[in-house]
Amino acid sequence: MITAYIGLGSNLSDPVMQIHHAIAAVKKIDNSKVTSVSSIYFSRPMGPQDQPDYINAVLAIETNLSAIELLNTLQAIETEAGRVRKDNRWGARILDLDILLYGNEIIKSQRLTVPHYGLKLREFVLLPLAEIAADLILPDGDNILELSQGIDKNGLKVYSS
Ligand code: ATP
Ligand code: MG
Ligand code: MG
Repeated sequence: MITAYIGLGSNLSDPVMQIHHAIAAVKKIDNSKVTSVSSIYFSRPMGPQDQPDYINAVLAIETNLSAIELLNTLQAIETEAGRVRKDNRWGARILDLDILLYGNEIIKSQRLTVPHYGLKLREFVLLPLAEIAADLILPDGDNILELSQGIDKNGLKVYSS
């Protein structure tokens, strides 16, 4: 089993409900077990500002799936939730499920970059991740707790724990 960390985000169609549904869907993935789930957070959008605020969370999953199988499964859950892939990056979306970490692996393929390239830059990833895995060390040796303490919170707030 590998421990992977997944970042969840939504800012359309009742985002809090979307995140609760997505957590329930991830808990049903075969050959896998969700071992912890962060609080649910409010965050400000990245990129285009003319869109609603986001709801975010992070969870840990122990899985026998390969990283690409996990990505396929997460994308199926996004599609099931009604996400339509558009060209406008960082635009509003019903559900986004990103693989933040997959064990200690470094993956650079056409479909997958792990650790997620935004991991260290995004308060809505680092703070929930530090909440559930403060002592986590990234493949490059960086420490999640230190990274989370060094980032601007940009208005990030706990919505419910
Ligand atoms: P961002 O990647 O900046 O968070 P996004 O999550 O909105 O933006 P998506 O439209 O969800 O981007 O995904 C675009 C593509 O990113 C996916 O089709 C997938 O192949 C690729 N991708 C690369 N690395 C990852 C990863 N670690 N987790 C999820 N998708 C990834
Ligand atoms: Mg994303
Ligand atoms: Mg994504």
